[in-house]
This record gives sequence, structure tokens and C-alpha cells, in this order.
Amino acid sequence: MITREQIHELAQFEDEGACALSFYFQPTTPRNKAHKEEAILTKDLAREVLRQLEGRDFEGKSKTKTKNKCESARADLDRIVRLSQELRGNGAHAKAVFACSAQKFWRQYDLPAHLSGTQLLVDRHFHLKPLTQLLASLPSLGIVLVDRHRARLFELRLGELTERMDFFHPLPHRGRSDGFKGYDGGHAERRVADEVRQHCKTVADVLKEALDKGMFEHWILGCQDTHWPQFAAQLHSYASQKLLGRFTAEVAHVSRDEIRSQAERIFADSQKKRCDDALRETLSQARSSGRGVTGLRRVLRSLESGEVQTLLVGQSYHSQAVECAGCGHLDAHLVSFCPVCGRETREVVDVAEAILPRVISHNIELFYVSDDAEFDKVGNIAALLRFRSEQNTSNVRPINQAPPNPSVSRRAGLVGRYRGLASG
Ligand SMILES: [Zn+2]
Repeated sequence: MITREQIHELAQFEDEGACALSFYFQPTTPRNKAHKEEAILTKDLAREVLRQLEGRDFEGKSKTKTKNKCESARADLDRIVRLSQELRGNGAHAKAVFACSAQKFWRQYDLPAHLSGTQLLVDRHFHLKPLTQLLASLPSLGIVLVDRHRARLFELRLGELTERMDFFHPLPHRGRSDGFKGYDGGHAERRVADEVRQHCKTVADVLKEALDKGMFEHWILGCQDTHWPQFAAQLHSYASQKLLGRFTAEVAHVSRDEIRSQAERIFADSQKKRCDDALRETLSQARSSGRGVTGLRRVLRSLESGEVQTLLVGQSYHSQAVECAGCGHLDAHLVSFCPVCGRETREVVDVAEAILPRVISHNIELFYVSDDAEFDKVGNIAALLRFRSEQNTSNVRPINQAPPNPSVSRRAGLVGRYRGLASG
């Protein structure tokens, strides 16, 4: 499965010759007759991409250069088609391939089979929207199960549940040697209470360390209601803030499926709430001309000046823009020349895709918003700002020079935050 560092690497990749291939393979269910069609579909997609490449006139470039470009992309496409044939019948995982043989770049990743479909695209950057949407919908979480003397720590990442630790602290044996009821009995009870407290503290320390190391950004707890106060008393305040929710579970008996489904439910609820809160705050801040902006033009400007903390984009938002070939400036006005550096611009078919590399490399929290009437009214794109700079044209600068987002550490969140990627 893909890591945050790998996603950053993909976001930073650029091919001047626009031969960066992104292939997303979503398997059909096993035994489905469509397996054969999957491979045929990939072949068709590859043929289409090749046609696009051959049809391009590389302005100012020689025919030989164009031909070389096509040849190198063709090698990647052949390899992708071969791979898709091997993938037939592999119903459990989806696959993503990012390739550019001109730069000797090839990365392939297994993904949970939750992609909207199989796609193959070629451009200057990799196509990251399916990946960011996937990451936004899937949790990256720690899960702690605890009772009075046992605890287990799991990690849930991209649909895969892994047990990381298992602690078992036997309670002191209480037998006849505890002596008479009364003084000795009370003493034994206190000893048990101490042991339980020590056990909870050990688990809380391990959890804090995991959070500090960035193993996961948030966590959830499974325990009996009666054990919660004892454990809560030992939690570090930082860990308490990162707790998304709690479910009732018996440490020794809960099944993996139960853990996963409880975690996914709690995560989905908390994501929805975080997204709603961010949206309401952004809209209210925008209305009062505070730390919120709406509409593509203002959002692009805020991205370029490094002000954006959280970006909200409609699930099916689509809009054109232009991008400067020189400085990377994105402009909502379809101007032929860059207002920043004067170089020629080129068309960007989907601006929601074009902004992703910046969103990812600057660790901007990203939410995809679905069906919200108020959001629709303001253009289906908005941003919550960390600060608001004086906005005049003189401070427009290319986005690749915008300062990184210091409020968010690199290890924090997903592209779900795309980071949750955004979300998460
Ligand atoms: Zn420019």
C-alpha cells in the first residue's frame, strides 16, 4: 500500500514532454465474465493515449523529438497492458501505476478495490484525483482495545487491518494467601487497582509514542464502558484530542471484521462532521471577509500566496483554467499570456486535478463535498485560510514559490487530510 512519502513523490513529479502516464485499474468481481473485457478495455485505453500523443504537435520541437516521446510512452503502455492481463482475476485489489520511461520512472501500488473505474491518462503531472478521493474515504487509524489487564493495538490503513502489539498483564493472583478478609483483603484489592492503573498507563504511553512517531494521526478505542474511566484517566491530553470515537468491545473475543467495521463507521461519522464544520466555518468566514474565500479565482490566488489551510472541492467539480508553462501560475481567466511572468499559458482541462500536486506537497487539508446547496451557490470550491494576506496583484506569485504550510506537519494527515487526504 502507498505511503505518504510516495504520494508526495508523485505530486512533485513533472514531465515537460507531458508523457507522465497514470493508470488506475479497478477489478471487477471474481468469476465475472468481464475479466477478459478488463484487459481489452486497458488495450483500448492505451491505444487512445497513443493516438493523443501522436496527434500532439510539440510546438517548436522537431519531429524526431515527438517520435522519441511516443516511443518511450509506447514502452510504458505496452508494460501497462501486459500488467493488466496479469491482473485478471485479481479481484481483491485495485492497482495504480505511475510511469514515465523518458525519466525512467515506474511505480506501481496495490490499492483497495474502491476506485470508480479503470482509467489511463497522460499529462505533464500524474493524475492524482482517484488516489486522493480514495484516501479521503478510507481511514488511516490506530485502534486500541483495552480491558483491565489486556490490550491490543491495531493499525487500519487503506482497508488493511494489522495487529501491531498485544499486551497481557496478568493480575495478581487472589487466593487463600490473601489472608483474612478485612485488612489483607483490602490490601489485595489496592494491589489489583495499582496493577490496573499501571497497565492502563503502559498502554497510554505506547499509544502516545505511536502518535508521536506518526504511525497514525487519529485513533479509536474499543473497550467495555466500565473500563473507559480508568483508561481515560491515564491518557495524555494530546492522545485524547486525537481520539475519534469509542465502541464497545471485548478484547479477547472481538473479531477483525467487527473491529474494521466499527472503525470505518466511526471514521466516516467523524470525517463527515469535520467536513461539515470546515465548510460552515469557511462560508461564514468568507461572508464576513475573514479567513474564508469562495470561487475558483480567489481560491487559486490564495493557494498561490500560501494562505490555504483547508480546501473544499465539490465531488464532481470541474472547471477549466490555464497554466503558465514557465512559472506554473494557474489562472481562472483563460488568458494567453501569464500575468505573473508573461510567458505563454496552456489550457488545463480540469483545474481540480491541476491543483492537487500543490495541495499534496503543501499538506493542505482537502475535503470533497457532495450535494450541498449552499456550497453549490458559491461555485463548489472554497478555502479556509490560515491568515489573510493583503490581496492585490503585486503579491501574486507562482505557486511553486509559495511557502509551505507550517501549521501542518508533514507526517500529519493524508491526502485526506488528503491528508485525509484530506480527510483523515
Ligand atoms: Zn508565469
